[in-house]
Formats: sequence, structure tokens, C-alpha cells
Amino acid sequence: MKLKCALCGKKLDEKGALIHKNQQGQREVICYDCFEKETGVDYQTFAYRRESAKQVFFATIFCIILTIYAFVEQGPLYGVAGIVITVLIFLFAGKAK
Ligand SMILES: [Zn+2]
Repeated sequence: MKLKCALCGKKLDEKGALIHKNQQGQREVICYDCFEKETGVDYQTFAYRRESAKQVFFATIFCIILTIYAFVEQGPLYGVAGIVITVLIFLFAGKAK
């Protein structure tokens, strides 16, 4: 399959192609350079942010499950401690960005 950057017209192989949503909400295939131009961040940074957002999401979900478990099994005091820890993780993760 031959791909072409929708913005600069450069020919791309599949590794160099990115799917990007433009301002009209349409999907287009663009190259890494144009991605950087369009979004203001290079793709590595973007991928890293997306990855860390995902990790924070799972860590938070995990904590919520633990909190519910602690609440049911150990009582409200442990439940409250779990909520505090969950909030702390969330805040820390937010600051790390
Ligand atoms: Zn391009």
C-alpha cells in the first residue's frame, strides 16, 4: 500500500505514516514532520504523554478497586485511607506531566 502525506505530499511507508484527525474531524494520513507542525509536539512526546495517561488511568482504576475491597472487607476506615491514596496518586501523576 502506498501512502502519501495529506499535507506535504511526501511518500510514506507504513512506519512513517500517522493517522491524524484534522480540524474538520476528518482522518488523514500525515508524516511525522507535519504532525509536529500541526500539533506543536513531536510524535515521541505525544506517544509518551498518551502512554503515561493510560498508566495513570489504570493505576487509578486499580486503586479504586482496592479501595472498594478495603471498604467492604476491612471497614470504612480502610476505605477512606484508600480514597486518600487514590487521590494522592492522581495528583502526583498530574504533576509529573
Ligand atoms: Zn508531511
